[in-house]
Amino acid sequence: MPLTAKHRAALSWRTLLPWVVGALPVVCGLGVMNWQLEQEMQASSQATTRQVVAQVEHILDNLASAANTLLPLAGSPCEQAKLTLRAQVTRNAFVRSTNLFSHNTLYCTSLFGDFDEPVNPADYVDGTLWLMDGNSVTPGHALLVYRASDGDRGAISTVDGDHLLTALRLIGPDEELRIRVGDRWMGKDGIVHKGVPPAAASAHVLLGSTRYPFSVQGGYAAAQQGRLWRSHYPALLGLLLVLGAAAALACRWQIRRASSPRAELRRALEADEFLPYFQPVVRQGDYRWAGAEVLMRWNHPQEGLVRPDLFIPYAEHSGQIVDMTRALMMHTAQSLAPYAGLLEDGFHIGINITADHCRDLSLLDDCRTFLQHFPHGRVVLTLELTERKLIEPTPVTLELFEKLHAMGVMIALDDFGTGQSSLNYLRQFKVDYLKIDQSFVALIGADALSVHILESVIELSAKLGLGIVAEGVETAAQRDYLARHDVDFQQGYLFAKPMPAAQFLEALAARPGATQLPQRTPPEIMRG
Ligand code: C2E
Ligand code: CA
Ligand code: CA
Repeated sequence: MPLTAKHRAALSWRTLLPWVVGALPVVCGLGVMNWQLEQEMQASSQATTRQVVAQVEHILDNLASAANTLLPLAGSPCEQAKLTLRAQVTRNAFVRSTNLFSHNTLYCTSLFGDFDEPVNPADYVDGTLWLMDGNSVTPGHALLVYRASDGDRGAISTVDGDHLLTALRLIGPDEELRIRVGDRWMGKDGIVHKGVPPAAASAHVLLGSTRYPFSVQGGYAAAQQGRLWRSHYPALLGLLLVLGAAAALACRWQIRRASSPRAELRRALEADEFLPYFQPVVRQGDYRWAGAEVLMRWNHPQEGLVRPDLFIPYAEHSGQIVDMTRALMMHTAQSLAPYAGLLEDGFHIGINITADHCRDLSLLDDCRTFLQHFPHGRVVLTLELTERKLIEPTPVTLELFEKLHAMGVMIALDDFGTGQSSLNYLRQFKVDYLKIDQSFVALIGADALSVHILESVIELSAKLGLGIVAEGVETAAQRDYLARHDVDFQQGYLFAKPMPAAQFLEALAARPGATQLPQRTPPEIMRG
């Protein structure tokens, strides 16, 4: 079946396309959402980093204030200064300790009073800031140290690393944040590392303080991006999936609709792919061509020439057969009319008609249009109605057949012997010919009982005064048998197979005694 065969051939893109169409909104949606999320992350990372810088600057302002207040005391005896040192610790929220140094020696602290420890100005970035990984009091615990100096004397204030840690954790709970001072940095683990901090996987931001020598680095870890995806867009993700599924289903439905037998037949009809083939019907005695049956062929672009029994049932089922028959009649008329001179007067043209075509009177117009192509009386149009699907005798159909007869159109009951038409039926529709089904012709030469059935059919038609056409004549024995039984017309491969118009006209022109030849030979004209 060309209709189903085509389905198989195009299986790959038919299966693939709905997936592609379904994936499209999902992929585009994900792309847009990803872009939006990245924008949001970048903005959030910027804001967070800025806040951390501001918070650390605020802490350092406390430290700087304490150190600068103590700076005038640097160099004076510790005994005298230590209470002031302690007062600064108490007054400033972030200050954990204060110290005085002179000549690179730390000689007085708020905790111990007198002290003696070397101070190396090179530890401090720009001489002011040092991120320590612990001191003798709290080894391994981060400290940020601020140093204010005046010549070789100065004051030092410290803040506990926990304050920095709190700022990092509270301001940007979802982000990776690192405070960098010189070649040391501290992240959310609270540990002071040496070297350059690694950049965040996404939305990386580096922001330096304009007032103190430190910078803050922000951004998101790779895993965090996935988590944000899920927490930000659960509804949108669901919506995208639903949209994708809907698009895929709509596409599949459209493909199925477009590739349905109905759509394929409609396409073929518009592309004028249904062609008439002609099988001659010979008359008793001289076996000259008395007419021809028009048999539909589908000139399919991929499948080639398709037999009618592979597509006519679909066309009948969908009701498209009426339009197809109309187009075929037009095609036939246009092919034969220019060479009408090749046809004997009263040449029979048989067209197969289905019951659907007889439900209204439109068939009358179709027949009239067909006959108008030929000189009056040149062709006799014979409508072949199959006995397997009988037309119901309604007022409309009876009127139709009445008028068809009045126009000179003849009726042949096709496949006679395979259905159940009654004598009454034959009379009601004024049937002119019976076409004996080829299955009966094939019985010739078989057992006596089978041949008896054929003889009964022939006798019956003789009694009814109907013309008889025997179909499917393949052997000389069948031909001679039918001739002996006075069968009026014969049709079958023995005489000729169905052929395209060009070949049919060529054969007509080549017949001995062909009366009128066209100026150009038909095949040239038809093929040109
Ligand atoms: P059908 O009307 O009974 O047409 C006769 C069929 O027998 C044709 O088959 C013809 O090619 C075939 N045939 C003729 N001589 C011989 C022979 O000696 N031996 C054998 N084995 N077969 C022979 P085809 O062309 O394949 O058509 C098959 C059927 O399709 C037709 O049967 C007819 O019922 C239907 N059909 C064809 N064209 C049309 C059309 O235009 N309209 C409608 N409604 N049906 C059509
Ligand atoms: Ca027929
Ligand atoms: Ca038949």
